[in-house]
Amino acid sequence: MSELLPVGEALARILAHAGPQPTIIEVPLLDGLGRVLAESVVSHIDVPGADNSAMDGYALRLGDASQALPVSQRIPAGTVGSPLTHGTAARIFTGAAIPPGADAVVMQEDCSEVAGVVTVSGDVSTGQNIRPRGQDIAAGETTLNKGRVLRPQDLGLLASVGCAKVKVFRPLRVAALSTGDELVEPGNSQLVEGEIYNSNRYTLAGLLRNLNMEMIDCGIVADNPEATYRALHDAASRADCVITTGGVSVGEEDHVKNQVEQLGYLRLWKLAIKPGKPLAFGSIGETPFIGLPGNPTSVFVTFCLIARPFLLKLQGAEEADPPRLEARAAFSIEKPGIRQDYLRVTLENTEQGLQALIFANQSSGVLSSVSHSNALAVVPPGTTVVKGDKVEILLLDSLAR
Ligand code: AMP
Ligand code: MG
Repeated sequence: MSELLPVGEALARILAHAGPQPTIIEVPLLDGLGRVLAESVVSHIDVPGADNSAMDGYALRLGDASQALPVSQRIPAGTVGSPLTHGTAARIFTGAAIPPGADAVVMQEDCSEVAGVVTVSGDVSTGQNIRPRGQDIAAGETTLNKGRVLRPQDLGLLASVGCAKVKVFRPLRVAALSTGDELVEPGNSQLVEGEIYNSNRYTLAGLLRNLNMEMIDCGIVADNPEATYRALHDAASRADCVITTGGVSVGEEDHVKNQVEQLGYLRLWKLAIKPGKPLAFGSIGETPFIGLPGNPTSVFVTFCLIARPFLLKLQGAEEADPPRLEARAAFSIEKPGIRQDYLRVTLENTEQGLQALIFANQSSGVLSSVSHSNALAVVPPGTTVVKGDKVEILLLDSLAR
């Protein structure tokens, strides 16, 4: 199991294990934000429900437009007019239903009304300034599909078809464990020699919160087989997925893989990815397990590229892949690598288009490289980059939002 798996192949193999989805719950529409729709929503109504005016102005018959027209009625939004008498116009406001008989609306800036009689200037065409019934959504049409991660505009769209509640998947419970005898929680004590603060826990907590998943915080696990076994066993019994950081490398202080094998299966280990090579995937009993590396930058990158799509699929989300952009490299990579490299870069707009500036220190232990970048530049194995070459870009905002 020591061969390095290409990133795409590893992801496909991991995604094949994403199931079954959590149970379905019904929540008030507002609480649906960020949740995953568990049933497609079909509209029972047309939106808008009637032909209506796109402007404040006058509704009239096209054939009458060249005459001076007495104003025969006034139709504010929310009221219903009566059929339009021949040879008259209706004063109408944005959003009000078009009265039967009218086939155009002239905006008030192109009209003059004197003593209850209106004249219009300029050409008038059929349907002008009329928003047709059902132009947004037609009755019977699927408004949003199952698997949709609900965004603010989606809540608005569902409200527009009259939904007050939505069926969504229960948020995924993800157990997070940090392994390492050197780890100390910030705030607890001063560091003594050899100790470091546990940063991965916070990165993971933020990433999971952005996914609207529930983190079951299993704390820090000591580097010994017994503690690791107990912690993994306990985590798996409480969660839909277990994520660990550290302890999956090749050293004799790395116990996670062995203990996963005691408790279930290790399905794959070691990806051709930089940073993040020692990633492991398997299951503890029936519960999927993702072993992220320990280095903080590797945690962030492998979570975004591997764990995130897996968790989203397990949650029931059907999300399109994050958009891939192109930028000109403002750096060069002279030595081709054997792993796919995800360089931390900052994108800048220039007159020649997008340019990617590399963060100076690309070490997997340097978390500043992620904080001070806004994108990843993908350099496939076996390739070099010359300054000015086009490189593939993934935006951090689309990977970690
Ligand atoms: P490991 O894979 O456990 O050998 O960890 C690799 C590197 O990541 C080591 O330098 C660890 O000290 C560091 N590391 C592991 N876990 C964490 C953590 N939770 N927070 C910060 N650094 C960590
Ligand atoms: Mg360790």
